[in-house]
Amino acid sequence: MLSTMQDVPLTVSRILRHGSTVHAGSHVTTWTGDGAPERRGFDEIGARAAQLAHALRDELGVVGDQRIATLMWNNGVHMEAYLAIPAMGAVLHTLNLRLPAEQLTWIVGHAADRVIIVDATLVPLLAPLLPRLDSVEHVVVAGSGDRSPLAGARARVHDYEELIAGRPTDFDWPEIDEREAAALCYTSGTTGDPKGAVYSHRSIYLHSMHVNSAEAFALSPRETALPVVPMFHVNAWGLPHAAFMAGTSLIMPDRFLQPAPLAEMIETLRPTMAAAVPTIWQGLLAELDAKRRDTGSLRAVVIGGSACPPALMKAFEDRHAIRVIHAWGMTETSPLGSVSHPPHGLSEEEEWTYRLSQGRFPASVEARLAGPGGGFLPWDGESAGELEVRGPWIAGAYYGGAGEGPLRPEDKFSEDGWLRTGDVGTITPDGYLTLTDRAKDVIKSGGEWISSVELENHLMGHPEIAEAAVVAVPDEKWGERPLAAVVLRDGNAPDYAAFKAYLAERIARWQLPERWAVIPAVPKTSVGKFDKKVLRRQYAQGELD
Ligand code: ADP
Repeated sequence: MLSTMQDVPLTVSRILRHGSTVHAGSHVTTWTGDGAPERRGFDEIGARAAQLAHALRDELGVVGDQRIATLMWNNGVHMEAYLAIPAMGAVLHTLNLRLPAEQLTWIVGHAADRVIIVDATLVPLLAPLLPRLDSVEHVVVAGSGDRSPLAGARARVHDYEELIAGRPTDFDWPEIDEREAAALCYTSGTTGDPKGAVYSHRSIYLHSMHVNSAEAFALSPRETALPVVPMFHVNAWGLPHAAFMAGTSLIMPDRFLQPAPLAEMIETLRPTMAAAVPTIWQGLLAELDAKRRDTGSLRAVVIGGSACPPALMKAFEDRHAIRVIHAWGMTETSPLGSVSHPPHGLSEEEEWTYRLSQGRFPASVEARLAGPGGGFLPWDGESAGELEVRGPWIAGAYYGGAGEGPLRPEDKFSEDGWLRTGDVGTITPDGYLTLTDRAKDVIKSGGEWISSVELENHLMGHPEIAEAAVVAVPDEKWGERPLAAVVLRDGNAPDYAAFKAYLAERIARWQLPERWAVIPAVPKTSVGKFDKKVLRRQYAQGELD
């Protein structure tokens, strides 16, 4: 028997209409670095999004599902693009401005982007690439800055404000099939070419509802969110669309991502929650330790994207009374997978076990652990396997390119359609995930596995170690052994014997690294994660002895 419920499509235009009317009084504030942040109400953002849609359609001739790329920081104009582009039926493609030129060029070509909206401050990055971006017919420059590098470009160059000025402030948003593409985001391509996850209107809508739920970040009009995580890194973890839906005001840091301006933003604009990868929070912690600021507005900070070192979590709580929420996700999972809220009724000590884990899965994200020898493992908190997930906001394939079918590489999707995450871990009977490692980072030593993350977490708890990255290096006897690369807090000579003794109190002796190196900083990827392939290469080239 069919239900008698209405079948109303879940679309981004619904989020846009709702946010700009019901939550007209909420606002997006962009940090400008000159002491005068730029603030726009959700009503104004909605009106300007309509103007942008008119401009794209009427002036630039955008039709159907053409791809419109953004090469932008987190700011108010980016928010307008986030709403207008999908709502008009086109596809929002966020470009990661930290990718190497080769990859950016490849991605723009693969997505066949017709238009690029670029922050004026990023024109120097885009201009040298443009001659090779064959699909790009229009460049729209937002904000002020030197545009001379674009002189002579084959693509037509427009000024964002001039382009939208005087156009109608409402738009007859088309009724779109909720399964149609709304946004496109490429993984950073640590192995091979980057892969594009295509989010649908439905997946964005459902994911936003989840972000807003108490199971995740509990956004509401009473909250103000500071997404430090870039809007090009898995749509700033879904915060922009979710906040517009919930009426949560947003603070956008633009290009001011250094610890000092972030601390100032927190003190003066008073967000109630913020989100970023651990490296950003490490920097902010050092800044707050050195110069105390009023961070009392912050109810929680969300840390995800890589394992959050327990020492970092505890330091924020003990020294600054800021509660850290640990979360796990991927580009392919929109990204919210699990969030680490502990169950009720536990002592503070017991709560920590849960809070340090990667968190609990919501009803919409089904999870299973694939065992090394085939078959699936029990959720007993002990059996470790590769995490596979499935759900309405989880990718079932990658974008194959214009006119091509979807790509389903075997190592990324199981035969029955689940996403193979490449992450190894355990799940407790009540659904809490603990990741021990990425499959490609785990150290396979004499038939046993050593978790690089576990070693790093312990090392980063040592008072003299600021950061630590552990990688597998070839070993004649054992196959692989761990190499610990550490960044020291002071300029003292490293006392490896002391570090080893410290570790020996916490892990089995056979896991203790024999190889050590002091490095000035851990190399980071385009989204601020430890870049272990650089360390492995440096070791292979004899640079880490
Ligand atoms: P990339 O694969 O390019 O780094 P993603 O942002 O999609 O881009 O990365 C997803 C991966 O990041 C996950 O598969 C996992 O390995 C890692 N990750 C994300 N969140 C966490 C977390 N809380 N703890 C440990 N690893 C995490």
